[in-house]
Amino acid sequence: MSLPTLAIVGRPNVGKSTIFNRILGERVSIVEDTPGVTRDRIYGTAEWLGKEFNVIDTGGIDMGDEPFLTQITQQAEIAIEEADVILFLTSIDNGVTEADERVAQILYRADKPVILAVNKVDNPERRQDVYDFYSLGFGEPYPLSGTHGLGLGDALDAVFAAFPEEGHDEEDDSVKFSFIGRPNVGKSSLVNAILGENRVIVSNIEGTTRDAIDTKFEADDETFTMIDTAGIRKRGKVYENTEKYAVLRALRAIDRSDVVLVVLNAEEGIREQDKKVAGYAHEAGRGIIIVVNKWDTLDKDNHTMGDFEDLIRREFQYLDYAPIIFVSAKTKQRLQNLPQMILQVAENQTRRIQSSVLNDVLMDALAVTPTPTVNGKRLRIYYMTQVAVKPPTFVVFVNDPDLLHFSYQRFLINQLRNAFDFDGTPIHLIARSRK
Ligand code: GDP
Ligand code: GDP
Repeated sequence: MSLPTLAIVGRPNVGKSTIFNRILGERVSIVEDTPGVTRDRIYGTAEWLGKEFNVIDTGGIDMGDEPFLTQITQQAEIAIEEADVILFLTSIDNGVTEADERVAQILYRADKPVILAVNKVDNPERRQDVYDFYSLGFGEPYPLSGTHGLGLGDALDAVFAAFPEEGHDEEDDSVKFSFIGRPNVGKSSLVNAILGENRVIVSNIEGTTRDAIDTKFEADDETFTMIDTAGIRKRGKVYENTEKYAVLRALRAIDRSDVVLVVLNAEEGIREQDKKVAGYAHEAGRGIIIVVNKWDTLDKDNHTMGDFEDLIRREFQYLDYAPIIFVSAKTKQRLQNLPQMILQVAENQTRRIQSSVLNDVLMDALAVTPTPTVNGKRLRIYYMTQVAVKPPTFVVFVNDPDLLHFSYQRFLINQLRNAFDFDGTPIHLIARSRK
């Protein structure tokens, strides 16, 4: 299911990131326990009146040394590309500026709803000047104060009124996956190779423009949807050298995927950026397969594959659950195994275990490795139940959640993995105290 997306656009200093953080609220504090991930806070999921939506702060996508007007032009273009509705932010401080007009000109050309807001309207005296912003041509401007949190409700109501009707692709139960990875690892080659091997389903339905680059195909009697990560097939590699934009595209593809295929380049080994990309998928709780591409480029002996696997396990310790496959987009080696693998991981992501079976496993685990004693207090585990899928999430009821340390938690998760097929999916385990 894809959520509607709001992008915030405007010249520097009008308060985009302030408003962005306000909209995300507490949700911003995401667990950052994955090595290699420095959270680029330009994208997130927010909630308004019980409904979820995605928000992008285009101000965070900097284009390196490009001149200022080029940068805001590109940010506005990215917003048009990515969003369903655009929040055009200005500030009461300087009135309507040349840069505001530049942004407005780009947004006129867009076939997307634009909500105009004027920030820094911190007190009623400042309200008078809000009407100057009518001249930008986007109707009534919404006054806001990011610092005081004023006006945001009305603006978000307008945003929601402008979001497209939902319910388009609800019936779609195909398995959704995407290839993510740094530039040049071979994502677009893999996309093309797979589409070349399988029967592509051509859709007659005029979808939303945003999803139009998804491709459906059939393999092993199943329907798959390949989500195009970087606009790789359609637009060419426009902003590829903009790392933040590449990250944004990857995050959005991950959001919409059941299974994420993290692509590595056998020829170049593992780089820092590979870890970041993999970290995003892990944090999102999606199914993960590690795809080592360009396997044709190596001179191989009996140890090459095992050595590469060891390297991956060392470098991506938190991805110990992800299966690895060695392929070549060029020679098509092992590509025919991918659909089955994706399917299996998708299935494991939605696996549900009956409580009775689960507690048998728990009792066995407790018998093998008794619970630890922490500061003289013994951890007691009473009961375990599965509360969610995608990823499989379990609650253990204990005497004191603080006593369930990482190592015992890990032990329990491993017991679950031994007992059931959870290959390719993270498992979340939450401790709750039983009153
Ligand atoms: P961005 O460059 O558009 O992302 O702008 P920022 O969110 O970084 O804000 C730029 C400056 O404006 C910061 O110093 C903010 O504290 C300030 N600011 C943001 N919103 C408001 C507001 O509603 N009122 C006032 N007075 N200052 C604000
Ligand atoms: P992307 O940036 O991740 O989409 O990477 P591309 O698909 O554009 O591939 C980058 C380069 O690697 C291109 O020159 C491809 O021809 C080449 N390439 C991709 N896959 C393979 C492969 O399996 N083997 C070899 N030898 N080259 C490959």
